[in-house]
Amino acid sequence: MEKKLMVILGGGESGVGAAILAQKKEYRVFLSDSGTLADAHRQTLQAYQIDFEENGHTDEAILEASEIVKSPGIPNTAPIMQKVLAKGIPVISEIEFAGRYTDAKMICITGSNGKTTTASLIYHILRSAGLNVGMGGNIGKSFARQVAEESYDYYVLELSSFQLEGVYDFKADIAVLLNITPDHLDRYDYNLQHYVDAKMRIVRNQKTEDAIIYWIDDPLVTREMEKLKPSAAIYPFAERKSDRVVAYTENRKIYIQTKENIFDMELELLALEGMHNVFNSMASGIVAKLMDVSDEQLRKSLSDFKGVPHRLEKVATVRGVQYVNDSKATNVNSCWYALQSMRSKTVLILGGTDKGNDYSEIEELVRNKVKALIFLGKDNRKLHTFFDGKVDEIWDATSMTEAVEAAYQLSEKGDTVLLSPCCASFDLFNNYEERGDQFKECVRRL
Ligand code: ADP
Repeated sequence: MEKKLMVILGGGESGVGAAILAQKKEYRVFLSDSGTLADAHRQTLQAYQIDFEENGHTDEAILEASEIVKSPGIPNTAPIMQKVLAKGIPVISEIEFAGRYTDAKMICITGSNGKTTTASLIYHILRSAGLNVGMGGNIGKSFARQVAEESYDYYVLELSSFQLEGVYDFKADIAVLLNITPDHLDRYDYNLQHYVDAKMRIVRNQKTEDAIIYWIDDPLVTREMEKLKPSAAIYPFAERKSDRVVAYTENRKIYIQTKENIFDMELELLALEGMHNVFNSMASGIVAKLMDVSDEQLRKSLSDFKGVPHRLEKVATVRGVQYVNDSKATNVNSCWYALQSMRSKTVLILGGTDKGNDYSEIEELVRNKVKALIFLGKDNRKLHTFFDGKVDEIWDATSMTEAVEAAYQLSEKGDTVLLSPCCASFDLFNNYEERGDQFKECVRRL
C-alpha cells in the first residue's frame, strides 16, 4: 500500500519534530516553510533525509496531503491555509499528532501569563521526585521529537492557544488553567471569546478520572468552568481560603488540601517571589500532590527551583543594589506583578515597542515604589506623556549600556534595579531574550 503523505507547514522546532516523528511512523513526509529555515533545522532535516522546501510553498505538493500538521505561528488567513481549508484537508497541531503515539500521562498548562514558569516548576518538582518525565510544547525540545526519540512516562506540556486550536482527540490527564486576560486578539478577529474558546480546549475529552486545576479568582476562567460543567475532578486555587478552593494563602503560608493531607509552606521559603508566583507555586503544588509527591520533597523543590531566565531573574548585587531581569514582561500586566513583588525602592527600566499599552494600570505602584524611571526605546514620547511629573527622575536611553549605566548612577545601596519593560523588544533588539541577555552582560560589566 502506498504510504500516506503528511505535510508539515512551518519548519520551526515543532515542525521539524513532527517531521521526524511522521517519518518514523512510516508516512511520506514533506515540510514546507514560507520563510528561511534556521541552519540547525535545515541540517536536521537533511540528516534525516526528510523532503522539504523553504522560502515559499509549492501548492500542488501541499494539497496532495492526507493530513497537515500546522505550526502554531501560521494563521488560518495565510493564503496556503485558505487553499488547504477549501480542499477540506484535516489540519492538526504537533501536539495532537504526537499525542497519538504515546501513552504517557499528560500534564498540560495553559493561561495568558505564567505558562513557562509553571511548566518549568512542575517539571522540576516531578523530576526531583524521581519520575521519568519530559517537558515540551511551547518550550525546549518539541514534544513530537521527544515522542519519536525518547521514552517518558509523563510529559509536562506548555500549551498556547494556537497549539490548542489544533487538538481534537488529545487529552490532558491533568489540565492547569492559570488565567485568561486579553492577548493575541489580532489572531482571533478581535473577539475575546474566540481566544477563550481556544484556551478552554485544554479540558476537551477529559473524563471523571482526570483533573482540572484552575485559578478561581479569575472571572473569565470561572465563568467558562461554570458553562462547561466538566466531568473531571476540579481543584480550584485562590488567594484566600473558602469552601470552594483546595489551595490558598493564610498567615503568610500557602496551604494545599488534597485527599486527607494538608500541605503548608511559608511564603518566604518559596523560590519564586511575587503574588503571581505564589499562584504558579500553588498550581504546581496541587499537581505534585495529585501525583503523590511527598510533602518533604515538594517543599524542597518549591524552595530550590532556580527560576526561568528573563522572568524576575536575579542577576547580581553590585554595591548593595540588586539587579533583576524581567525582560519577558512584554505587557503592562506582567510589569504590574513585578513591581508588586519589589520590597525596596526601585529604579525601573521600561520601554520598547508599545502594543497599545495603558500605563494607568501601574501608576500607583510606580508612585509608591519607583524612585527613577529609565525609558529604553527608540520612541519614548508616549512614556513621557504619561509619566512626566509623576516620578522625580526620568532619564532616556537608546541602548542597554546607557540604560544600565544610568541605573547605576540613580540607585543607592538597598535599592533594586528592575528591567520590566511593559513592551515588546523589536525596536532595539531581536527578541526579549537578547534584551535580557544584554542587560545581564551590562550588569556583569559594572
Ligand atoms: P508565558 O509562558 O505564559 O508567557 P512566563 O512564565 O514566561 O509566561 O511569564 C511571562 C511574564 O508574566 C513574566 O514577566 C512573569 O513575571 C509574568 N507572570 C508569570 N506568572 C504570572 C501569573 N500567574 N500571572 C500574571 N503574570 C505572570
